[in-house]
Amino acid sequence: MTATLFIVATPIGNLADMSFRAVEVLKSVDIIAAEDTRHSAKLLQHYHISTPCIPYHDHSDENQTRRIIEKLREDLSVALISDAGTPLISDPGYKLVLAAREAGFTVQPVPGACALIAALSAAGLPTDRFAFYGFPPAKTAARKAFFEELSAFSHSLVFYESPHRVQESLLAMREVFGGQRRAVLAREISKTFETFLSGDLQTLCEALESDANQSRGEFVLMLEGASEQASEAFSAETLRILTALLEELSVKQAASLAAKITGEKKNKLYKWALELQAE
Ligand code: SAM
Repeated sequence: MTATLFIVATPIGNLADMSFRAVEVLKSVDIIAAEDTRHSAKLLQHYHISTPCIPYHDHSDENQTRRIIEKLREDLSVALISDAGTPLISDPGYKLVLAAREAGFTVQPVPGACALIAALSAAGLPTDRFAFYGFPPAKTAARKAFFEELSAFSHSLVFYESPHRVQESLLAMREVFGGQRRAVLAREISKTFETFLSGDLQTLCEALESDANQSRGEFVLMLEGASEQASEAFSAETLRILTALLEELSVKQAASLAAKITGEKKNKLYKWALELQAE
């Protein structure tokens, strides 16, 4: 088993972000498996790469995976690329990598651009602990439930979002996480209109409402985690209830009512409500 499957990262906008090694590997392998062969043609032409291309997509029938494993068995080396960035990161490749590993082939990454890492590296949010959640669900109720599950986590939260849904997602986040949660919206990284909008969720919602251009392009949406004290002390549901009550009532009334609803201690809720207001 000598043939290798290379997982090659490609640029997320700026063609110059292609690594020397990525070009070398794509020139030297026998076959390139691409998410969309027509889309990748531009990049391959730019770097004078004439290696034959075949399509690969996780959603298509299993024959595609089998065909590529067969190529590896014939001792042909294969490189997998996606439309942009690192394959398998909200992109096809998982089934192929698993099948290649199970069949005993070497799978080697060729690291490079990845939108979530590029966004986090320049956002000014804590990066010691973070989690990536891909694209939030498209339907309103599912999206809200999805955010509610994350609301008490203390690590930074990272999402991908499309231009059609970025505004809806921000509004849903404001509802669940509260308008004061710190957030950064990274748009069009490495492209002409690269923008990092940072502030709290309230500010970001207003920015998108007042300027339609801010909803154009590709996005990474990042949130700071909940404060440690809050996430250690209370469940996501308790946090949600207290945050909602605080929007309508005084700290004392909100803590008292939240205690009745949740069964938590009133003084603990009161202390946390004070902190929330001070943020
Ligand atoms: N595999 C890619 C990676 O490594 O980042 C991600 C592919 S996923 C299908 C595409 C999503 O990534 C976009 O909808 C957007 O959320 C994010 N993305 C890709 N390129 C971006 C860019 N230049 N600026 C901001 N976000 C980007």
